Amino acid sequence: MKTTPPSAIIIGAGFTGCALAYDLAQRGFAVMVVERGELASGTSGRTHGLLHSGARYCVTDAEAAIECIQENIILRRIAKQCIEYNGGYFVALDDADLGYAPAFFQGVQNCGIPVDEISVKRALEAEPALNPKILTAFQVPDAAFDPLRLAMAFAASARQHGAKFNTFFDVVGFLRDGQGKICGVSAINRHSGKPVDFHADITVNATGAWAGKVAEFAGVTVPVRPTPGVMVAYEKRVTTRVINRLCEPDDGDILLPQRRMAVIGTTSFEVEEADYIPVYPDQVKQMHQRAALLVPELENIKMRGAYMSARPLIGGMMSGRSLSRTFKCYDHQTDEGINGLVTVTGGKATTCRAMAEKTADLVCQKLGWQRVCETAQYPLADYHLYYQANEAAA
Ligand SMILES: Cc1cc2nc3c(=O)[nH]c(=O)nc-3n(C[C@H](O)[C@H](O)[C@H](O)COP(=O)(O)OP(=O)(O)OC[C@H]3O[C@@H](n4cnc5c(N)ncnc54)[C@H](O)[C@@H]3O)c2cc1C
Repeated sequence: MKTTPPSAIIIGAGFTGCALAYDLAQRGFAVMVVERGELASGTSGRTHGLLHSGARYCVTDAEAAIECIQENIILRRIAKQCIEYNGGYFVALDDADLGYAPAFFQGVQNCGIPVDEISVKRALEAEPALNPKILTAFQVPDAAFDPLRLAMAFAASARQHGAKFNTFFDVVGFLRDGQGKICGVSAINRHSGKPVDFHADITVNATGAWAGKVAEFAGVTVPVRPTPGVMVAYEKRVTTRVINRLCEPDDGDILLPQRRMAVIGTTSFEVEEADYIPVYPDQVKQMHQRAALLVPELENIKMRGAYMSARPLIGGMMSGRSLSRTFKCYDHQTDEGINGLVTVTGGKATTCRAMAEKTADLVCQKLGWQRVCETAQYPLADYHLYYQANEAAA
């Protein structure tokens, strides 16, 4: 059994990298996060912000739905500062939606998601802006979270346990020792343009939609499919609750209140390159139409903006919406004989803590370090503390 604390490099400071930094630092690792931009400058800073109850996936992707409800309950406890506890409705707009209701009701129950069928009258009293033609409504424990606060709260907690965040360092390769084991990364300081090497016992690739590209630097394959979606924000908050269309996951099926705005999302298509994804006007138009179906007054409310980012979905033979929203850890020693490197990708913002826990368990097992995860037990540090804690070493 190892007695001196091990060290870890985490590439990427999205939700996954920040949650993992906290988990490993809390287990006693010396943690260095290496991120090519600012915190949450990848997909995490441009997410929709729905703390999923899991109901969206209960029929088509039960594994992801169960992960979501379990983590929804934990994040409500540890990340109160980031969450608006507003709840969510699933509403039927036509006969096809009504036809989905029995499978939905069964699905939420199978996945352990609390659900209440409520009368149309009650739903409209609670949410007067809703389409008055809705045919039925179910209430579930959805919520809205603030993406930046969530990433910063995990990062602040990591820093309190000694983790160092090296932002604006672009990882361009891996370092190897005499046995070919990965013992760190080479990066470029994006401020100075100078190369820098970071050394550690283990490196975790937590680069989301870029995980495949970064894994290639080590000559290994990660079947991640960058799967973007557009979000359209409106200048008025039109509902208190999250409004979901009662149907299988589809384009424009979630309308989320975010502070004083309403945000409709999203689409789903695949790209090769996650770095620059244009916002397509036809998708914005489609979102606008779908939003107005749920809340008719949105037809005439000014759009505040449209933005796009890519989900890191695990690829297989399937594509698009049929790809699971669950996550996967890859031990590249078992899979490809490359020691010292682990990749974690896939998943959801809602499940980032669980992704971190599974990855940290694997890292501890590989290094013979016996510490258990405690991240579900304690509230996260105040997110403001991210900027007040110790500065990066590099
Ligand atoms: C349109 C859309 C809507 C979504 N809505 C929701 C939602 O409502 N609720 C929910 O739970 N989930 C949602 N998700 C999913 C969620 O946003 C993602 O699963 C999550 O943000 C992924 O986090 P991550 O840390 O794995 O990846 P990222 O946030 O992308 O982090 C990866 C980081 O790696 C960095 N990086 C990449 N390459 C390098 C390199 N060479 N060197 C150094 N750093 C590098 C990037 O800059 C980035 O910061 C949504 C996703 C999309 C696309």
